[in-house]
Order: sequence, then structure tokens, then C-alpha cells
Amino acid sequence: MNGASWEDRTGRRSRVRGSLLGGAIGDALGNPVEFLSLAGIRRAHGEHGVQGLLPDDEGVVGRVTDDTQMTLFTAEGLIRAHSRAASKGGGTEDGGAGTRIVRNAYLRWLDTQNHPAPPARGGDNPVRTGWLRQQPWLYARRAPGNACLTGLATGHVPEPTGRLGDPGPVNTGSKGCGTVMRSAPFGLVAQDAEEGFRLAYWCAQITHGHPTGAYAAGAFAAIVAYLLEGDSTEGAVLRAMELLRRHPGHEETTAALRAAVDLAAQGAPTGEKVETLGAGWVAEEALAIAVYCALVLPGADQVARSLLLSVNHSGDSDSTGAVCGNLLGARHGDVRLPPSWLVATEGRAVITEVADDLCVEFEHAVGWPADRYPAY
Ligand SMILES: [Mg+2]
Repeated sequence: MNGASWEDRTGRRSRVRGSLLGGAIGDALGNPVEFLSLAGIRRAHGEHGVQGLLPDDEGVVGRVTDDTQMTLFTAEGLIRAHSRAASKGGGTEDGGAGTRIVRNAYLRWLDTQNHPAPPARGGDNPVRTGWLRQQPWLYARRAPGNACLTGLATGHVPEPTGRLGDPGPVNTGSKGCGTVMRSAPFGLVAQDAEEGFRLAYWCAQITHGHPTGAYAAGAFAAIVAYLLEGDSTEGAVLRAMELLRRHPGHEETTAALRAAVDLAAQGAPTGEKVETLGAGWVAEEALAIAVYCALVLPGADQVARSLLLSVNHSGDSDSTGAVCGNLLGARHGDVRLPPSWLVATEGRAVITEVADDLCVEFEHAVGWPADRYPAY
């Protein structure tokens, strides 16, 4: 990427920022209605449902949830894994170091869920240190997924080798959308879509063992990678489906994506149409809803409508909003994100900084101050 033109690099940075910030906006839009039915949303917010950022239970507007928190830690883990590999002269893969270091990042996220505030600096364990975990606003429980919490307690580090499609040992039957909602960064940094697909797949199995949870995360990362290459939304989705169907046990995820593509061809969107794809509590449904909303309103001037469509349904509105926002930002860049929502979304400065650090690391492997991104 060092040889890329100024325009290419500028466009790529805008898309990386757009993906992380767009995800946060979608997460914040969906947060206040996560547990409401479509009818309940309409009763509370009018016939068109949510039309902008709303206050949460505590009256605060623009708060993000575990989806954005975990996505930031995925990005942080990837920066640290790449930095470590670069210092050893290698690529992203360092044996199992990629999955191990991403898991370490999720352990830091877990600390944010179990403690009221960041620790005092200067601890001995580098896994427990770093700049991101010093951000006080991340120390907030916003309905984190149970499999994410319990899976991290098991100590299992997936080996990124071997055949895809077998159940993993951690939460073997779980395919909650916690795999998908945190996985955009794998697509943002991948050399190619297949690399992003595979790393997202194996890192999903840190917490969720059902192959569909891992395949949905992998397909999502692949779509993001294709969008960064400049594909249209439809092109990116169809190419990711091609990649997906080469692997055993892909059918459930493929069927969900196929349903989203077919539905997008059936005229104007409605909340009722969104609900035919499911509720988004499980990984392939969350991905399908987000993909549908991005596909059916594909224009750069339709980003706000697409985000609103992705949260106005009975189901996991913050996760479907987050995943849809990741896609829209990767497609259209940060400059197309609705500005009034962008400036009111929690954590904007840190999210932007992480996006830029991700680009800097993968473009230049600069070598970070030891207390910012320790290589563990
Ligand atoms: Mg959430």
C-alpha cells in the first residue's frame, strides 16, 4: 500500500474512518430501541419510528453500546498484532499470534465491563495495558452479549489453521450476533478479502462456537474488504457469497445473504420487509438485515435513510444499525455520514483516532510508543 496514490490513500482513510464512525452512529441510533418491537417503536416515536438520535434510559443522547466498544478493541488488537509481526519482519500472521492478540484485546474490553474505571497506569502485565483501555467512557455496560462475556473466561485461543466449518469448543452452539458486530476491522486491514474472512472466522470462535457465527463474521469482513477495494455494495456482497460458498457448512449464512439480496430487488423498503429476514439476535440475521438496508438504499445520499431502516424493526436494533453503519461508511466514506448524528455520537474523537492509527499502522508500521500499543 506504500506505493498507492495520494487519492487512493485519502479515499481509503475516509472509508476506514467512515466504517468505524458509521458503525458507532448506527449503534447509537438503535441503542434506545434495542428491546422494542416495531409496533412498540412506532407507538413510542411515531409512525415512522426512530428518525434520529434519541435519549437512552438515563436521558443521554448518542450513546454507543458493546458493538462499538468491541469493534474498537478488535481494531486495537489488529494494530498490536501487526505491529508485533512487523517488528519481527513478518506479515499479519504470526502463527497463532493474530488470534491470541485479538483475544487479549477482548480481555481488555472484558475489563471495561467488570470495572468502573481504568486501572492506574504502570501495571506489570502488558496484556492489561495500552492507550485504548485508559479511555474512561469505555467503562460502561451497555447490554453486552452473554457469549462474549462467558467465552472470554474460558481461555481458549483458536488456532487459525485447518478446515473451516467445524464447531469450536467455546460456547459450541452459540451463533449470537456478537461475532458479526465486532468484525468490521478484519475487513478494513486485510490484504485481500479472503484473509479478512479467515481471520474474522477464527477470531469469532474465541467466544462463539457455532460455524454460522464464524461464517457470518467472515462474510461481513469480506464484504467490508471488497467495499474498500471500491466495489459497489451489491458487487461486494455477491463476491463475498462466492467466497463463502467454497467452505463446508456455509449454507445457513449463504441462505440469509441470498434472502437479503432477493428482498432488495423487491421494491421500496419497509420495516415489515426487514422483519422477514429475522430479528438480528443471531449472526446471520444481523448480517442479512444490515446488508439488505445497505443494498436497498445504495446511494451516497441515502445513508441516513439506510441507517434508520436498519434500526426500525423488532430485534437487535443497535447491532443491525452498527453492522449497517460499518458497511455504509466503508462504501461511502466518512464525508457522507449524516453530520448532525456524527457530532452527537459518543466517542467520536477516540473512534476517529483508532481509525487513523489502524491506517497508519497498516500503511507504515511506524512503531508505537510502548504504552500506546504494546505488542501483546
Ligand atoms: Mg449492543
